[in-house]
Amino acid sequence: MMMNEILNYFDLLFPNPKCELIYNNDFEFLISVVLSAQTTDKKVNNVTRVLFNKYDIKSLKMAFLSDLEDILKPIGMANKKAMYIKNIAIKIDEEFNGVIPDEIDKLMSLDGVGRKTANLVLSTLYNYPYFAVDTHVMRVTKRLGLVSKNDDALEIEKKMYKLLPGDKINRCHHQFVLFGRYYCKSKKPLCDNCKLKNICKKESF
Ligand code: SF4
Repeated sequence: MMMNEILNYFDLLFPNPKCELIYNNDFEFLISVVLSAQTTDKKVNNVTRVLFNKYDIKSLKMAFLSDLEDILKPIGMANKKAMYIKNIAIKIDEEFNGVIPDEIDKLMSLDGVGRKTANLVLSTLYNYPYFAVDTHVMRVTKRLGLVSKNDDALEIEKKMYKLLPGDKINRCHHQFVLFGRYYCKSKKPLCDNCKLKNICKKESF
């Protein structure tokens, strides 16, 4: 019942939820998600506009790390991320024939790809029912009392599979992210106009 109330509200706020990263193909999506660690989608879109203009999978394999680092500087962790994306280009091209794998273990064998990234790739590119738990999802599910205060990302993911209708998992993921990004913000959430105030547990945390 409570979940219905939440999902109906999210449907009103975000009738067409989708990822806010900008990409032209599967490889660019994977790279964008890897780059989005510890930064915002907006900043990632600014650097990928330059990056994807200059490199595709073949040229990224051969890129100088220092050139990549220059481009990635505005999003932080530039050294690490430059190495990750170059290694990903090599492995995707040479081991997976240029195709982004649709199996979680293969995705997680790529540099810089953890469970959250793998889940997001599987749900966005392949429409598989995987629920990625990022910082927004974690905050919102806790504030709404859907999970426990001390649950980690994996526990939250498992609990959400039980709570969400199977055919709406991907859609709900994007709605939770957008609700956390624009309404239930980390600092100064917009509680005054929030229709979920009656069920929110934020104050008890
Ligand atoms: S009342 Fe505030 S903290 Fe609670 S869900 Fe709404 S925006 Fe988030």
